[in-house]
Amino acid sequence: MQNSPFKNNQLYNEVVYKTLIESTLAIPWSIDWDSKQFSYIGPQIEKLLGWQQESWKTVQDWVDRMHELDREQTFNMCVAQSLAGIDHEADYRALKADGSYIWIRDVVHVIRKENGEVDSLVGFMFDISERKKQEERLEILQRQLEEFSYKDGLTGIANRRLFDEFFAREWQSAMRLQKPLSVLLIDLDYFKQYNDGHGHINGDQCLREIAQLWSTCCSRPRDLVSRFGGEEFAVVLPETNAEAAIQVAENLMQALKNAKLPHCTSTISEFVTCSIGVKTIVPTEQCDQMKFLELVDQNLYQAKQQGRNCYQADVMDTLEDLTG
Ligand code: GH3
Ligand code: MG
Ligand code: MG
Repeated sequence: MQNSPFKNNQLYNEVVYKTLIESTLAIPWSIDWDSKQFSYIGPQIEKLLGWQQESWKTVQDWVDRMHELDREQTFNMCVAQSLAGIDHEADYRALKADGSYIWIRDVVHVIRKENGEVDSLVGFMFDISERKKQEERLEILQRQLEEFSYKDGLTGIANRRLFDEFFAREWQSAMRLQKPLSVLLIDLDYFKQYNDGHGHINGDQCLREIAQLWSTCCSRPRDLVSRFGGEEFAVVLPETNAEAAIQVAENLMQALKNAKLPHCTSTISEFVTCSIGVKTIVPTEQCDQMKFLELVDQNLYQAKQQGRNCYQADVMDTLEDLTG
């Protein structure tokens, strides 16, 4: 058998290659560059996409069976790379005969004539739908993870980490644009007593309700209401002057008053109340962010000293107060 004349001739080799190439999962194809016609496409294409092997006549058939959102970019990229004689890959959604789409990776090799001009393109199409689905699942998981790492577990609003990053970013922006930036630090009054009187579980529920209440109080999309820690909240108000920041503090206090959340162990009210420190700054290079937050906290302390259930604000500090 080994010396059979059939085995040495070209026809035999062609049969071997054809058998091998048509038994792979990847779909082989070749296109004549000048005529833009398919000179070959593997019969496996029919099983994958549903279009008959004979229906793949020209490059236009390939383009037409591509998702319209991928079409232009894929086509332009393939033409440019082919003209430059560069082997390349393209991922796109291919249209199936039943109207659905699957993700394909086309791996393309450029065959050149002796004079360097493009003679033809040959390649393989791979079904990468499963891989794409996994990538999409991973992307969703990553987005969720990012979302969770900025979310306070108890209340669902922004957490301290987001506050820190947001405040630092807005500080830079306010400095660059020389616009006022305001921060409110809010502390619930006698919350230890609240837990003692109503129980810790109700304390948690109370924190959730207040978080929801206040997150709807700040009307501008760039305002950030966050849980600063424990029973303390922080609000960052970009491009907000002292007068407007005081208005926000009053709104928050009014919203809490309207909510009438019972507090049976408070000595100042039968409902939950809060104290707020308010401060505004137009930062310069000399100002220190941490020092600014300390001063907001001092205003909060003042509000507590004044008997709670109130806010303390002031005019802008001199630069000396804020240098680190
Ligand atoms: P003040 O008016 O001076 O702020 O009194 P306070 O009792 O609120 O002050 P303090 O900061 O000493 O105590 C805060 C309390 O808030 C301590 C803790 O019992 C309660 N607290 C902090 N975090 C949570 C929480 O996640 N859930 C519950 N239920 N309570 C919390
Ligand atoms: Mg506190
Ligand atoms: Mg407190």
